[in-house]
Amino acid sequence: MPALAHIMQQQHAELATAQRMRTLRETSVQPPFIVRDGQTLLHCSGNDYFGLTHHPAVIKAAQQATAQYGAGAGAARAVTGNHPLYAALEQALASHKKREAALVFGSGYLANLGAISTLVGKGDIIFADKLVHNCMLAGAQLSGAKLVRFTHNDMAALARKLSLHRAQGKHALILTESIFSMDGDTAPLEEISELAQQFDAWTLVDDAHGLGFVEIPDAVDVIVGTCSKGLGSYGGYVCAAQPVIDVLTSRAGSFLFTTALPAGVVSASHAALKQLTQDKTLVQRARNNMQKLTEGLGIAPPPAAILPVILGAEEKALKAAAALEREGIAVSAIRPPTVPENTARLRITVSAVHEPDHIQTMIDALKQYV
Ligand SMILES: *Cc1c(COP(=O)(O)O)cnc(C)c1O
Repeated sequence: MPALAHIMQQQHAELATAQRMRTLRETSVQPPFIVRDGQTLLHCSGNDYFGLTHHPAVIKAAQQATAQYGAGAGAARAVTGNHPLYAALEQALASHKKREAALVFGSGYLANLGAISTLVGKGDIIFADKLVHNCMLAGAQLSGAKLVRFTHNDMAALARKLSLHRAQGKHALILTESIFSMDGDTAPLEEISELAQQFDAWTLVDDAHGLGFVEIPDAVDVIVGTCSKGLGSYGGYVCAAQPVIDVLTSRAGSFLFTTALPAGVVSASHAALKQLTQDKTLVQRARNNMQKLTEGLGIAPPPAAILPVILGAEEKALKAAAALEREGIAVSAIRPPTVPENTARLRITVSAVHEPDHIQTMIDALKQYV
């Protein structure tokens, strides 16, 4: 066996022993269900919080744009890929986030990578919440700035780290999330903004899971988001003041050196954003479902659509997910390195398209784990 394959075989075996193997299972989604191995399961793990992946208006927008502009954009946006649907989506996003301008990237991952590594660099300093998403850390690394982590949502810890380290960087950037992806809680954005002002730092908030649920304070400098979750489509974006967007457009590597999104995808995102802003019942229904679920489980409701049930050991989480699947419920076991050691969990999500009997099914099945 060639040396590379041999070493990877060993690593693979180690992953298996540590219960950290990821296997890809063929799945088709039809909200609020998925079909897997011929079995229909209630979907309680997705990020399509408003069922927009399958909304008729969203699908139609994708079909029409694909017919008009083709399946692919054929080049990067700065070359010939900037088809006419981009400007409209960017205007809608900027207006929705109450910012001067927006820039759409290929994905949320690419948006964070590009924004963070462009706004700060060598000689600067980044303060990141302990639980921020992998792509924000990748962006921090790529930037070359010094990285300081602070205890999750602990404002005393952030203040302490700022007073200890702020002077070590010319510019400083604080990274957090509006709704944390694996914990479902929100960051104290007003307090973070105040500390940022006090220590002359900028703020970047990843709103991947907060769209529709969280109002981001005006003082936040940069909002990163994704069209791939609540909007049920694909793509990422940055909303900020015009000069920030202008510089990202000219300098962000993950924007410049990758092909533009297909028109169908951009059009679907725009149609989904219109649905979300026009149909106020979408957010309300998702909220009500979370309210009912947590009431049934006897716990307090989280601020958005994500409910973590922390079980500790990875094996425990895997066993619980397998047992739930046998009962007809699809819930993912989330394990390290996605979450910290000994905090393996079930990550439950609700959507606007869950009906009351679906919520009752979830309550009955999940009760024993809460
Ligand atoms: C999913 C996620 C991203 C990445 O977004 P994609 O569009 O899926 O690449 C970024 N940040 C957070 C917090 C996320 O949960």
